[in-house]
Amino acid sequence: MNPHPNHTFLQAKEDLVKHKQALFTQYEKPVLSLQANMVGEHKLSGWSAWVIITFEKLIQSSMKVVYKERIFNELGFISLLVIDDDPSHLKQACIQLEETKTSGRCIDLDVYAKGRNLSRYDLGFDERKCLVCDEMARVCIRTQKHTQKEVIHAYQQCLITSFQSKVDIVHFALLSECMLTPKFGLVTPRSSGIHQDMNIHTFLKSIDAILPYFNEVEFISLDQNTHEIFSQLRLLGQRMENAMFEATQGVNTHKGAIFLFLMVLMAQRMSPSFTSSLIELAQPLLEDFKQMDPHHPQSEGERQFHQYQSQGVRGWVLKGGEPLLSNTLSFYASQPDSHDHQVNTLLNIMSQCEDSTIIKKRGWEGLLDFQAHAQAAMNHPESWFDFEQYCLDHHFSAGGSADIFALVLYLHYSKERNLL
Ligand SMILES: [Zn+2]
Repeated sequence: MNPHPNHTFLQAKEDLVKHKQALFTQYEKPVLSLQANMVGEHKLSGWSAWVIITFEKLIQSSMKVVYKERIFNELGFISLLVIDDDPSHLKQACIQLEETKTSGRCIDLDVYAKGRNLSRYDLGFDERKCLVCDEMARVCIRTQKHTQKEVIHAYQQCLITSFQSKVDIVHFALLSECMLTPKFGLVTPRSSGIHQDMNIHTFLKSIDAILPYFNEVEFISLDQNTHEIFSQLRLLGQRMENAMFEATQGVNTHKGAIFLFLMVLMAQRMSPSFTSSLIELAQPLLEDFKQMDPHHPQSEGERQFHQYQSQGVRGWVLKGGEPLLSNTLSFYASQPDSHDHQVNTLLNIMSQCEDSTIIKKRGWEGLLDFQAHAQAAMNHPESWFDFEQYCLDHHFSAGGSADIFALVLYLHYSKERNLL
C-alpha cells in the first residue's frame, strides 16, 4: 500500500526491481514474482487475485518458499516468493506451469536473480502465445491486432474454464468482493475504509481459513428433514466462524458470507433452481424470531427486528433472496466483463438492501439516506469519490451488501461454468 499521490506507474516498476534486488541480496536466492498479465487499467480484481493465489498454492506445495510477500499498488497485485532453488531450474519449473495449467497463460512467473529476470530465451523456450489467436503475443501487442475488450474477454474466459468446482467459484467470488475498488467505506486492497482493525490481508487470511469447509456441504445427507439439515449447517457454520476468528485474531470478516453461502450451496443441492428450497431450508429461522423477547433483545439483529420490523439477512433468506437476487443477477449479466459494472452492481445492491450494518449506525432514516446516495452514484463513476467520502463521514461500511455482491458473482459464474 502506498498512499503517496505522485507514486506513478513507472516509479512503482522501478521500486519493484529494487525491492527484488534487495531480497535477492538478503537471501542469496532467486526471487519469483507472480503477476496477472491482464490488460487494461484495473489491475486489482478478483481475476488477478484468483490466478495469483491459485499459483501461489501450487508453488508452495511443490517448492521450498523461504519468504513470501504480497504487494498491492499501481501495478496491481504482486506476490513475491523467495525460493530455495537454482534460478535456471526454478525458471524451467515455472515455464512448465505456464505451459501446462489451464490458467497458465493468464499469469507471468518471473524469476529474478543476479540483477535481472531470467528470460525464456535463456532456457531455449518459445515466446508466449496470445490468448485470443494463438500467435506470438508480442506481435499481437505490437500490431494492436485485438481490441482491449476482446483481450479482456478471452482472459476472463480462460480463467472461468479453470474453475473446477463450486468451491473454486465461491473462492473467486469472495476474492472478487475483497479486491473490488472503490468499495465505499469497506476494505479494499488500497484502503481499510472506516475500519481500523482489518485490511486486505485480514480478508485474504479469512478466505483461506474458511474455504475448505464449504466442501463439507456436499457430505450433508439429503435423506433427512430440512430441520435436521439446517442444524448440521448451523454446526458447520459455527466451526467456520471459529476458523475465521482464529485466522483474523477475533475480527469478523465473513460471518454474513459464511451464512449466505452455506444456505445457498445447500439449497442448490436440494434443488438446482434453489429459491423454493432456500425458503424451505430457512424455516427454522422463524423460530429465532418467535423466541425473541421484545423487552430484552439479545443482539443487534433482535433490536432491529423489534424497533423496525427488519429481519435482516435472515428475513432476506426467508424470502429466497427475492426480488433483489434476480434483479441483481440480470443487472450483472448485462456487462460481466467490465470493472465499472461490478462497482455498479454493488451500488445496485446497496440501494436496495436492508443492510443491518447501516441500520445499526444511523437507524432507519440513515438507511434510506444511504440507499438514496448509492442509487445516485450508480452509473456515475464521477461521483464515486464523493460517495466514498459520504460513507467515511457517516462511518458506513455496508458489509451485508458486500456479502450479497459475492453471492451474485458466485451464482453468475457457476451458471456460466455450468456447475450449478
Ligand atoms: Zn493474437
